[in-house]
Amino acid sequence: MNQTRVRFAPSPTGYLHIGGLRTALYDYLFARKSNGACILRIEDTDQNREVEGAAEMLISTLHELGIDFDESPASGGEFGPYIQSQRLDLYRKHAAELVKKGDAYPCFCTPETLQQMRDEQQEKGEFVKYDRRCLALSKDEVQARLDSHESHVIRLKMPDKRKFIFDDVIRGRVEMDASQSDDQVIIKSDGFPTYHLAATVDDHYMQISHVIRGEEWLSSTPKHIWLYECLGWEAPRWVHLPLILNTDRSKLSKRMNDVSVQSYLQKGYLREALLNFVALLGWHGADDRELYSLEELCENFSLERVNKAGAVFDLVKLDWMNGQYLRSLPLETIAKRAEPWFQPKDVLDYPRYLKIIEAARDRSTLLPDLAEYAKMFFCLDDLTESDAQFILIETSQKVLAWYSHALEATADISAENVAEITNRGIQELGIKGKNYYMPLRLALIGKQHGPDMPTTIEILGKEESLVRLRKHLAKPN
Ligand code: GLU
Repeated sequence: MNQTRVRFAPSPTGYLHIGGLRTALYDYLFARKSNGACILRIEDTDQNREVEGAAEMLISTLHELGIDFDESPASGGEFGPYIQSQRLDLYRKHAAELVKKGDAYPCFCTPETLQQMRDEQQEKGEFVKYDRRCLALSKDEVQARLDSHESHVIRLKMPDKRKFIFDDVIRGRVEMDASQSDDQVIIKSDGFPTYHLAATVDDHYMQISHVIRGEEWLSSTPKHIWLYECLGWEAPRWVHLPLILNTDRSKLSKRMNDVSVQSYLQKGYLREALLNFVALLGWHGADDRELYSLEELCENFSLERVNKAGAVFDLVKLDWMNGQYLRSLPLETIAKRAEPWFQPKDVLDYPRYLKIIEAARDRSTLLPDLAEYAKMFFCLDDLTESDAQFILIETSQKVLAWYSHALEATADISAENVAEITNRGIQELGIKGKNYYMPLRLALIGKQHGPDMPTTIEILGKEESLVRLRKHLAKPN
């Protein structure tokens, strides 16, 4: 196996979650870095758990994030089909071969028999595993029961005493005692393979060089190595990614809103931030750098720099990162992405909309924060009682009167001129600081804090600014 070939192999059982995105991203980055191929394979052999539309949704979310595959159900490839339910004959062929060689056997036990067996083992304090009663059946009996189409599964006969030793790219040498391993079902009674057989067969035929997957699969690796041995195939390199943990170091919550990638996009996280953040869930570059574009990740990524210790999913960091991207991506990009959160009429005057985004992005974390911040430019909330009182006191009224005069008298509301007017007001009135700016802001934007005066007036325009200033003058001028 010379070429690096990796696969992302989701089961279409629901939405793409953060852990799945990390596996897909590491597959993608590793393939790009090694000039290899990144393959998408849909593992839909568990028909009961399949959710309609889930595969399409997963692919479109990954595409939206910028992760595309060299071979996939949509783009095809030399090693297709890339959907397991279309490869059933291949799995059955190899299961039959295993049975013929004595490495696997049919098991006719009903779910009730198995349950009773487990209960008894538990009661006796024994290790709970299949007791191989069907392995003891005579050849003739097995044949007769198969001929009468009795419902059955195929089990892999695991070795009785065997220590599996393998190299994991992230963990180094791993030793696992498989003497208590259950005889894994490889073909279910519906004729579909289980994950273990299907993934092994496909990884072989698709010439996968590295199996990159979550740590939860580590304990299945001996079964897979055994399958490779029984089938006489060379195993790929194993790469088990660290668990993703909550900040209290418990395993990452399964609540959909907390882990679904779509829900983060819907909440207004930027895909650049999400990818960057997920890339750092277990991997870090040579220095303490935290911000990487997808291209930079492709250049810098290496599996050797992935930790084996659990990676903490820190929402505070994701928010910080999103704020960084909100400010550093091109203004037009942010404006475009923010549009769904604005009313269509607010976007009609596009140059003005861009100015609003520019002012708002310095003070926002997520895309909807931009719209929230921008509200003051479209309509004013009523002042709080204390603000309404403050705007009526003598100094406030003086400021509003002077400023509206000055603004009315100028045709030029460029930033320089508004800054000049603003400074002149301070000089001429001898009022400064909070007593000067607060009445202006309360009148113009309805709050005590906001963008600087040139920005505010530029966005509101001269007419609207005057309307807002005058509205609060007790004696209209
Ligand atoms: N279908 C498995 C899953 O969804 C893939 C595991 C693997 O990558 O081997 O987790």
